[in-house]
Amino acid sequence: MAEEEKRTEGQELSKKLVFEIKNVWETIEPAELPEVEHFAESYKEFLNRGKTERECTAYCMNVLKEKGFVSIENSGKIGPGSKIYQNIKGKALVFAIIGTQPIQNGINIVGAHVDSPRIDLKTNPLYEDSGLAFFDTQYYGGIKYYQWTAIPLTMHGVVIRKDGVKQTICIGEDDSDPVFTITDLLPHLADEQLEKKASKVVEGEELDILVGSEPYKDEKAADKVKLNILRLLNEKYGMVEEDFASAEIEFVPAFKARDVGIDRSMIGAYGHDDKCCAFAAFSAALHCAESKPIPEKTVLCLLTDKEEIGSIGNTGSESRFFENFIAFLASKTMDHYTEIDLRLLLSKSAMLSADVNAAYDPTYGSVYDKRTASHFGKGILLTKYTVHGGKFGGSDANAEFCQKVQSILNKNNIRWQYGGMGRVNKGGGGTIALYAANMGIEVLDCGIPVLSMHSPFEVISKIDLYTTYKGYTAFMNDA
Ligand code: MN
Ligand code: MN
Repeated sequence: MAEEEKRTEGQELSKKLVFEIKNVWETIEPAELPEVEHFAESYKEFLNRGKTERECTAYCMNVLKEKGFVSIENSGKIGPGSKIYQNIKGKALVFAIIGTQPIQNGINIVGAHVDSPRIDLKTNPLYEDSGLAFFDTQYYGGIKYYQWTAIPLTMHGVVIRKDGVKQTICIGEDDSDPVFTITDLLPHLADEQLEKKASKVVEGEELDILVGSEPYKDEKAADKVKLNILRLLNEKYGMVEEDFASAEIEFVPAFKARDVGIDRSMIGAYGHDDKCCAFAAFSAALHCAESKPIPEKTVLCLLTDKEEIGSIGNTGSESRFFENFIAFLASKTMDHYTEIDLRLLLSKSAMLSADVNAAYDPTYGSVYDKRTASHFGKGILLTKYTVHGGKFGGSDANAEFCQKVQSILNKNNIRWQYGGMGRVNKGGGGTIALYAANMGIEVLDCGIPVLSMHSPFEVISKIDLYTTYKGYTAFMNDA
């Protein structure tokens, strides 16, 4: 028996040389499995309460305040152990735990985005046609239009009324609420529609949302269905039609986050991109805030907006709010602070750009590079570069920094895998990595594989979510 079990020379060599990406479900200690499940449950709760960037920010703000974080405006003196945050216009958030080492040694950053593809309202959206009332919309981010018809949608956002009052809107999340939908054509009359290519089957301008059909009772009034909707909105929110121009109203799928599969190993939900990495990063930073002793390096967590439309705008990561926050920390913790100190500090800092990537889908295998693609269950994924064509438009991480991250993960027994987007010239995508890289920060894309990305119901693996949380925690704690 013993003879048979002995490895051959080739097997020994293979064990030594070949990088074996094992399935985390098969290698995790059984005692840790309840933690995997517990983390997945907390994440589902987070998703259900935070479907938009504003809701996510509000959710995280509440938790930070509970945990004793203070706003930069009220921070007073800052030193090791200080817990500071800045709320960026209610749509993005940056917070830090000051470490025991001088901040000049650099900081450990994990940054994710909390916006997701969705349907926004236009500024003059409400109209009536043939006895039905609709909202006219402008989609946000990269979507396949046809996926957003004939599913229940909910309405979220804010309206700033004429009188200056800010009203928060959320309709459809409570089980007793009504929901909304974008209509689609019945197959019986769709011969012509089905001849079109998929990008034209439903067009962007056709994504109008059905909001009413009951007329206001008055013989002489015009557009009575529309009028009735305005009446109801006025009763509930005190708003008038003009106020749509000073509103941000977003429609998102009504689905709650659910376990997927007979083995319940996956989570299906709207907005995994990038709320799964945001939640993992947020939870890892909170873990650091509560760990004793506190981390040596200063830990920073960035939850940004507008990634899905190119990271622009003053709540997106191309804006200077992120750098300004670090400048604030530096100026409050250093004697004789100058701007050059900030530049040097940034160049010594390290960041994981926490974002999802396309998981290998065997149904559409031909567009993936199977060897470099990420797979469900194989742990946290490292994406050295995101591409369009010949590596255009991305931040190609330095090999030295890739090795540093790999070694942190290896040292902490955290399983990691490669995470490329697809075969060469099959498409591509970007992340926030390049904006951090522009400031001199070492940065690597690092996140969770997703199936059906950017669809109304995306899927991730629970074990990848948990492994990623562990990976971010190890990175933040690295001295
Ligand atoms: Mn993303
Ligand atoms: Mn995306």
